Amino acid sequence: MVESSASMRVRVALPLPLGPYDYRVPAHLSVAPGDFVRVPLGRNYVVGVVWDEAADAELPEAKLKDIEARLEAPPMAAPLRKLVAWVAAYTLAPLGNVLRMAMSVPEALAPPRLIAFYRLASDAPDPHSPEPGILTAARRRLLLEASAGARPLAELARAAQVSPAVAKGVADKGWLARFEAEPDADPAPDASRPRAVLSEAQDDAARVLAAAVGNGFSVTLLDGVTGSGKTEVYFEAVAAALAAGRQVLVLLPEIAMSAQWLARFASRFGVAPAAWHSELGRTARARVWRDVAVGRVRVLVGARSALFLPFCELGLIVVDEEHEQAFKQEDGAIYHARDMAVVRARLEACPIVLASATPSLETLENVARGRYACVALPARHGGAALPDVSLVDLRRHPPPRQSFLSPPLREALTQTLAAGEQAMLFLNRRGYAPLTLCRACGHRLQCPRCTAWLVEHRLYGRLQCHHCGYAAPLPKTCPACLAEDSFVACGPGVERVAEEARALFPDARIELMTSDTVTGPAAAEEFVRRMTAREIDILIGTQIVAKGHHFPLLTLVGIVDADLGLAGGDLRAGERSWQLLHQVAGRAGRAAHAGRVLLQTHMPDHAVMKALAAGDRDKFLAAERADRERHGWPPFGRLAAIVLSGEDEALVDRVARRLGATAPQGPNVKVLGPAPAAMAILRGRHRRRLLVKTRRDANLQAIVADWLAQTKLPNNVRLQLDIDPYSFL
Ligand code: ADP
Ligand code: ZN
Repeated sequence: MVESSASMRVRVALPLPLGPYDYRVPAHLSVAPGDFVRVPLGRNYVVGVVWDEAADAELPEAKLKDIEARLEAPPMAAPLRKLVAWVAAYTLAPLGNVLRMAMSVPEALAPPRLIAFYRLASDAPDPHSPEPGILTAARRRLLLEASAGARPLAELARAAQVSPAVAKGVADKGWLARFEAEPDADPAPDASRPRAVLSEAQDDAARVLAAAVGNGFSVTLLDGVTGSGKTEVYFEAVAAALAAGRQVLVLLPEIAMSAQWLARFASRFGVAPAAWHSELGRTARARVWRDVAVGRVRVLVGARSALFLPFCELGLIVVDEEHEQAFKQEDGAIYHARDMAVVRARLEACPIVLASATPSLETLENVARGRYACVALPARHGGAALPDVSLVDLRRHPPPRQSFLSPPLREALTQTLAAGEQAMLFLNRRGYAPLTLCRACGHRLQCPRCTAWLVEHRLYGRLQCHHCGYAAPLPKTCPACLAEDSFVACGPGVERVAEEARALFPDARIELMTSDTVTGPAAAEEFVRRMTAREIDILIGTQIVAKGHHFPLLTLVGIVDADLGLAGGDLRAGERSWQLLHQVAGRAGRAAHAGRVLLQTHMPDHAVMKALAAGDRDKFLAAERADRERHGWPPFGRLAAIVLSGEDEALVDRVARRLGATAPQGPNVKVLGPAPAAMAILRGRHRRRLLVKTRRDANLQAIVADWLAQTKLPNNVRLQLDIDPYSFL
């Protein structure tokens, strides 16, 4: 053994925008990379992770502090540490900001909390053949339950259908024996249960996906039309991973809307998967986190943040609806969960499946270049036909004044209801009206803190800003001209469409489904249940109705304003509109009855509308692709967006111009701006944007990092950097 006079030192990454820092390892401790350790920082202690980089051997002893303790939690595995470092380098975020996402549940690092279980005590009266008069019926039921297996008291009471007070009374009598243990593990999904009978095309696709499991890293696009059974198909890859003893991560864009998905999983694998979403309480989060780390969770379905969970034997990742923008996290650490999921799969040496009926151009380009494999499901399951899509030219068939449903759409609704079928009306705009103005002077009601109109919500009886959450009642008098009761609502939101539909079809059962009425997974599930049980005739909703649902009796989809997503001139506006409208359209006619879709538009000649009407995806995507290539937009070039913001407009402006003046320029790189952001004021902060555009093969991160390192920002101006931006507000 080599004696060394210098102390053992290691580098510790902290979940803060600071560090990593070096610490001394006291003689009684031994630590390895990945260990969670508590270290002193200033006057406090923080928990960090022993990192892979070597500590600085030159740092004087006197400057080093001791690691205080090593936590008993399972260490962070090497692939996750690499992912954290990779994401930080890619997004140019401080390592600690990314690490924080991988340590999002501090409670999980503490020793697991034990809970109290109760079983039948040995000296309790025998509930199977009680002596007469000793036990009430309720007490007897409780003891019977307790004899069947130990459970927490509340669960025993529920199972026995007795009140908590009765249960407590029985426990107090000493008839139940109490002990403490970790909460029970949920039963594991069972891959050997019978699978759905797959069609030949489904079976071929399932075989390809399943064969990738256990064969290292690969990316496969599962490109299947709406209703083709993509879920059933990738479930076979899930089954293969489970059979191989590996864990599975499924990322969904919106976990609150996944009740149908969960039910299908349960029918294939016997139990629900572990779920990870913002509604989970802290205790549940800690438990899931730990169970993922020790391998007790076999399949986890989650929103984007599940990407940073500590899987210990990950064998497959699935990203469903891979084109969804919800995978892009827009605040805090800005990253695209689909892209980073591919990185994680590579680091874990496991396959990843990207599923969609409307794959992103980025993914399709990776397929075209041979970097991703692709399996296709070109037809709907069970012989259902794709819906018939037609355009309603609003210039030729305008709705009556102050209404929004055109005569052809009204006629189609009438027919659908008469046939006893269901309809859906889609408008991607919450509230009653997007704009409220004064009839007398034309004054428009605007958010006091943002460059945005206030949206009237009659459901709540108030005006709301959809960007900052500001809310106020509708004023009695116009703040500009003092006219009384002079406000008029302009344009439609879903509430207004519902009002019109109720007036037109007073006997129909009409429901509004938006993030205002769907308050959580339970509410979402209830909507889906009622729609499936045919308790709703017309479902009216925002994009929340567009995704994933399978409603067998839904035969008519009306798109109230198909042009909505095309305004604003975002580089992906066309692609995104096409994806969203195609997905909405795909809700129609998924079972025995043929579906049809009416798209109301003022632009029937627009490429998006023509593609939707003709069902010609390839032509549309080819044109989009050519356009992007010509202009060097992604995926043919790379972008980074910079937003400077602050309360002092002149200062923000000055800083932005100074930054602009030192911007890199050259054949490979161009910087656009600074310019006021489309959202020029947000939450009272003035915003200026710059956009860096490079060739595809340029090192965007190096260019941006070099440039930004030259400028020191004043404290009251914030810089937000977004690599591969999807939002241009
Ligand atoms: P997609 O996700 O491709 O739009 P889904 O996976 O939602 O399609 O499948 C559409 C419907 O068809 C679902 O109700 C699904 O359960 C059903 N389905 C698909 N494939 C099969 C199959 N092989 N056997 C039975 N039902 C299937
Ligand atoms: Zn606002």
